Amino acid sequence: MTKIAILPGDGIGPEIIDQAVRVLDALGESFEMERAPVGGAGYAAHGHPLPEATLKLAKEADAVLFGAVGDYRYDTLERALRPEQAILGLRKELGLFANLRPAILYPELAGASTLKPEVVSGLDILIIRELTGDIYFGKPRGVRECPDGPFKGQREGFDTMRYAEGEIRRIAHVAFQAAQKRDKRVTSVDKANVLETFQFWRDIVTDVHKEYPDVALEHMYVDNAAMQLVRAPKKFDVIVTGNMFGDILSDAAAMLTGSIGMLPSASLDANNKGLYEPSHGSAPDIAGKGVANPLATILSAAMMLRYSLNKAEQADRIESAVKSVLQQGLRTPDIFEDGTQRVGTQEMGDAVVRALR
Ligand code: NAD
Repeated sequence: MTKIAILPGDGIGPEIIDQAVRVLDALGESFEMERAPVGGAGYAAHGHPLPEATLKLAKEADAVLFGAVGDYRYDTLERALRPEQAILGLRKELGLFANLRPAILYPELAGASTLKPEVVSGLDILIIRELTGDIYFGKPRGVRECPDGPFKGQREGFDTMRYAEGEIRRIAHVAFQAAQKRDKRVTSVDKANVLETFQFWRDIVTDVHKEYPDVALEHMYVDNAAMQLVRAPKKFDVIVTGNMFGDILSDAAAMLTGSIGMLPSASLDANNKGLYEPSHGSAPDIAGKGVANPLATILSAAMMLRYSLNKAEQADRIESAVKSVLQQGLRTPDIFEDGTQRVGTQEMGDAVVRALR
């Protein structure tokens, strides 16, 4: 039986996860769902943000559905014991090298964006960020005595940008395969005009593309990509890029939609096993008030069905149900506008479950 690890975490995590679990239950599939504490809740229960039993469950499950971590009560602990370390530990232990972040703007919410509605209404792009390589992890790195040039002898900070061929190939495969499930277009974002690492990236992505003749590939420099994202974001389908460029572009793309409570994400390993979570954090300011928007987590569950559990039809059902509740005019406070109906976390979950049936 398909096993899903449910890791609610902290703050609004448990509230939003409960609604996603109800939606999964309503599909009529027989999933085995097992819960375990993570983040501050993991520390409170077992003295560690990623308790051994939680990690074991995540490893043996077919997919992980994650709420959010972060609890200010634990911010004074040493870094290794803080709640946020749980997500870094899970990425590392599960080998999650591909981060998928859709930026979707439902026409009903176009007013939430800071861009003009006609520029963003109906936006549906997918940013795929390599997550475990690049200048963030490359060695050597540190602070040393500058060996040459006009600042020779002064202290300098330095990092190493590097990508191995296999690292580029596997993320390129993820991008082309994701595009095959969408509009079949990939934009690979690099800085090949300046960086050796990204000329190499471009060459390898071009080579992997030969295996996907049904997908169109274009290359774009990162500075142009940033510009196009705010000028005409709807022209993209799938964007694939390295860790650092992806970090920046995915946040910019998320903000195009203006509603953080709506954005799901996935992090995948080499076998499409993945961890699925909303793009937002634990929102301690609204935790326990029953007002958090559960849709990002519900949409993360849909991504889990599509990318890890091979149940695209069930994923479509959930996504259609979410569209339907928005069309009905239901809004949690974060996406509320005059003329719509304000609802809480539980009511929003109820409405999605009803729309599914
Ligand atoms: P946040 O995303 O938790 O909140 C930012 C703002 O968005 C807040 O005003 C919050 O109320 C609102 N918000 C977020 N999700 C919402 C939802 N579903 N519905 C309605 N409103 C929502 O970011 P933050 O405040 O910078 O961080 C809070 C904690 O979360 C910190 O401890 C941080 O480290 C942690 N964090 C965790 C993750 C993760 O678990 N992957 C990601 C980011 C931040």
